[in-house]
Amino acid sequence: MGIQYDVIIIGAGPAGMSAAIYAARYGMKSLMLTQDIGGQIATADVVENYPGYKSISGNELMQKFFEQVKYVGCEVKYELVTDIKKDADSFRVFTDSSQYTSKTIVIASGQKRRKLEVPGEEEFAGKGVSYCATCDGAFFRNKVVAVIGGGDAAIKAVSLLSQNAKHVYMLVRKDKLKGEYANVKKLENFKNLDILFNTEVSEIIGKKFVEKIRTKDGKLIDVNGVFIEIGGMSNSDLFAKIGGKIDERGSIMVNDRMETNIPGLFAAGDVTNYLPDFRQAIVSAAMGSIAAHSAFTYITHKEHKE
Ligand code: NDP
Repeated sequence: MGIQYDVIIIGAGPAGMSAAIYAARYGMKSLMLTQDIGGQIATADVVENYPGYKSISGNELMQKFFEQVKYVGCEVKYELVTDIKKDADSFRVFTDSSQYTSKTIVIASGQKRRKLEVPGEEEFAGKGVSYCATCDGAFFRNKVVAVIGGGDAAIKAVSLLSQNAKHVYMLVRKDKLKGEYANVKKLENFKNLDILFNTEVSEIIGKKFVEKIRTKDGKLIDVNGVFIEIGGMSNSDLFAKIGGKIDERGSIMVNDRMETNIPGLFAAGDVTNYLPDFRQAIVSAAMGSIAAHSAFTYITHKEHKE
């Protein structure tokens, strides 16, 4: 048998990397499995609410987390986790290229972007339809774009795009925005922005690239790009497959100690059902530290009994 880890952490966003830092400092033999570094916040052009940094890009902030993960000696492998199996006293974690054994697991696999699921969305993905204003915004300099959604992610996308685009439409399905006060306030500065409340998209239309969107009330709006920012869905499939409890939105159910219904298996960050209306890097980081602490306590209690 190969090495047995004390903890395997799945994911390298704020939750996973904080769990890794704490676990390694507890002296736990730790492995972080991930496909990339930083998770969703790595695509944020600017983060202004992480204490210690007045203003920093999401990617830079996550690189700082990662430097610390390496500094404390957590092992990192860039592999896709494909399955988890629970044995009597440990877990086996299968990836696209290997297999590992661990006493505990922390799932910090975050969320994937929610799709609008209207005709044209898939067809024009990468041809005007985008899910990342930071990544693709520069292609729409002096163009007309629409942002779909009314939460903080949509507001951030609008704030970024309004700086360079000719015109920005923001399509919000309710009659008000649901973002943070400081983010909403910034929208007042943009003269090239139209916020269309009570408006939903029914179709994205074009030839080679996006040309128009049709709204549910039948209006046609000429646009060159559509940025979809309508929230996320937890990456909880592997957990559900081994009998883990998820809520009606698919999020992993945890208690205050980040314990799931499966002993030895913990979860942290956006993949969980903890404060679903307050997804913040600082909250995820805190959850990661708690999960590592709980994993450490779990192992120590178990070894004490044996
Ligand atoms: P949210 O869930 O907060 O908002 C999603 C928005 O998309 C809502 O306005 C929602 O409308 C709308 N929406 C959902 N589905 C559809 C649909 N099918 N068609 C049209 N509109 C739809 O997601 P976010 O990604 O904006 O944010 C997620 C979390 O991350 C939040 O907690 C947020 O505060 C946080 N965040 C914080 C940032 C910050 O700067 N501090 C930056 C980015 C995110 P409805 O209300 O009607 O459901």
